[in-house]
Amino acid sequence: MASNKAHHATGWAAGVIAAALVAHAGAGGPYQIVSFLSFVAGVLGGTAPDWLELAWWSRRRRLWITHRTWTHWGIAWLGLLAYAYLALPSQFWAAPLFGFACGGVMHLLADWPNPLGVPWIAGRHSLKLWKSGRCDLIVVTAAWLTAGLVADHVFFQNVHAHKALAFVRALPACS
Ligand SMILES: [Zn+2]
Repeated sequence: MASNKAHHATGWAAGVIAAALVAHAGAGGPYQIVSFLSFVAGVLGGTAPDWLELAWWSRRRRLWITHRTWTHWGIAWLGLLAYAYLALPSQFWAAPLFGFACGGVMHLLADWPNPLGVPWIAGRHSLKLWKSGRCDLIVVTAAWLTAGLVADHVFFQNVHAHKALAFVRALPACS
């Protein structure tokens, strides 16, 4: 896995993305309470594929599901994500579920580049970019960049993205 720290850091980003998308779908509820719930669920979901396979109820906390098999199954997480998103307008529980799924998908993306890979469909696939725990900074930065863009789009109508783009365009190398 990407290191636990990286999963926490990207999980928070997933929470932000989920909250923004829930708000965007108009399912934020009174005072965006539901958005906030989906944020919390996103943080939980960010580490879920790893704690779901731990027998956390037993004292020895052994793995009861082989590491990176069922709890890291891409189809299940993406399916959950789509299902929850479609239910957003009509069901109040869909928002936290959507957040949880966002966290899970983010977790798989963070695990993807290292050699063990992720079973997206059947059999593991790895981007083979770096070893586990290495380059966490890239993973975390990418996650937060995405979160920033999504939140910017939903809450600020891309103001910050436009400013950043203008800044890059103004750089000598790009003009
Ligand atoms: Zn994992």
